[in-house]
Amino acid sequence: ELRFHAGKIEFENVHFSYVDGKEILRDVSFTVMPGQTVALVGPSGSGKSTVIRLLFRFYDVKGGSIRVDGQDICTVLQASLRAHIGVVPQDTVLFNDTIRNNIRYGRVSASDREVEEAAIAADIHDRIVSFRDGYDTQVGERGLKLSGGEKQRVAIARTILKGPQIVLLDEATSALDTETERNIQASLARVCTNRTTVVVAHRLSTVINADQILVLKDGQIMERGRHDEL
Ligand code: ATP
Ligand code: MG
Repeated sequence: ELRFHAGKIEFENVHFSYVDGKEILRDVSFTVMPGQTVALVGPSGSGKSTVIRLLFRFYDVKGGSIRVDGQDICTVLQASLRAHIGVVPQDTVLFNDTIRNNIRYGRVSASDREVEEAAIAADIHDRIVSFRDGYDTQVGERGLKLSGGEKQRVAIARTILKGPQIVLLDEATSALDTETERNIQASLARVCTNRTTVVVAHRLSTVINADQILVLKDGQIMERGRHDEL
């Protein structure tokens, strides 16, 4: 059982490879203090999303350790770790279910009112109520198709509803129009407030607002600091 306090994250000399022989992360060490935001930047393939996957424990490290509130995440139940972490992936996949249930997945006990409040905070409510069936609209293969930005905002609403101490964000790389971009930024800012956040950043505004920036290249941290220091 993971005893969570504030959501401090520590990577200590982390090494990782998906397949033997090719190291994807090499000796990665960093600390994120509770409530702070760290932005990961670097070229495509440098290992940014891998850092997020390791934190959510899709894979185990090959060397070093990852600690959350002082506990090695390999030693705690995966479910109890994941209960305290919200993820907004690069490409959000929604379930073949209603929009309401897609958001409620963040906390199944949530009331309709709470689902709507989360959607408002994620700036997706207006879009949802524009559909004939509103929150009961089916999404997915046989239902409504949402754009990448809209799906990501549904994932943000889900995360707001879940209310985890730690939020992992993998910003979409796709070009977004300015208004969509502004909407997503505003909703991301809401989900990150007072939570420990690790964000793979493709947008300058995300980088500027981070407490710490880690520049990854070939799986190593090449530079670190605040935006005005780098
Ligand atoms: P991008 O900016 O394009 O999203 P990234 O920095 O997030 O890139 P990662 O997804 O972390 O990059 O990938 C780092 C390296 O690991 C890449 O060389 C990639 O090809 C490799 N990789 C990623 N996932 C796997 C996998 N499941 N199996 C094998 N190799 C993988
Ligand atoms: Mg990535």
